[in-house]
Amino acid sequence: MRLLTVVAIDGPAGAGKSTVARRVAKELGFRFLDTGAMYRAATWAALAAGLSPLESEALSTLLVDLRLTFEDDERLRVNGIDVTEAIRNREVTSQVSAYAALPSVRTRMSRAQRELGEAGRLVCEGRDMGTYVFPDAMVRIYLDASPEVRAERRAKELKDKGESVNLDDLLEEIKARDAADSSRAVAPLKRVPEQHYVDSSNMSQEEVIKALLDVARSGLGSAA
Ligand code: C5P
Repeated sequence: MRLLTVVAIDGPAGAGKSTVARRVAKELGFRFLDTGAMYRAATWAALAAGLSPLESEALSTLLVDLRLTFEDDERLRVNGIDVTEAIRNREVTSQVSAYAALPSVRTRMSRAQRELGEAGRLVCEGRDMGTYVFPDAMVRIYLDASPEVRAERRAKELKDKGESVNLDDLLEEIKARDAADSSRAVAPLKRVPEQHYVDSSNMSQEEVIKALLDVARSGLGSAA
């Protein structure tokens, strides 16, 4: 099997994957893809159109017309509208797992992800990168942290943005999303032995970035 020059990072909600994966991509000079943002964008579009996850025909039509464009691997547009901030709101966050469990949504997103990865030199993060979309990635990582630590990190993020937070609610939301993402029929979040396991619960962000870069560089070898 020809391996792709892809670093595939998976893990549960709020493990800090996006921030560290972005830095790893920058250090390696690779492109970066936040696949959670793609599922969030599809959810945002479905909610804006008033479509529930049960309205499969209308959702299929919506998916055909859905144009997702990343600018500088950072800002995301849906059919021309900048949704970078909107896709992080509470409503999208609480609904995204239901839409992401739909086979039509997953097929559409994973095809687009695969196309980007086949061009090579990509760091991507999500739930099914190393297991389903890129089983042929040169580097596969599972980035974990305890639910309590993840809830605390999320609380800090929200507080920094000036939002009021309840730690218990955040912990419940995180646990509910983990359960939904791990138990769905198609491409659930799971850990496999081929992934390098990194538990970031007791690590600083800089330590996590260093650990991931070490794993990535040794797996990529001369391709880095
Ligand atoms: O990583 P983030 O929290 O932004 O992901 C939002 C949601 O998108 C996840 O809870 C999950 O339901 C879905 N997702 C997915 N597969 C991926 C990435 C995200 O199902 N590869």
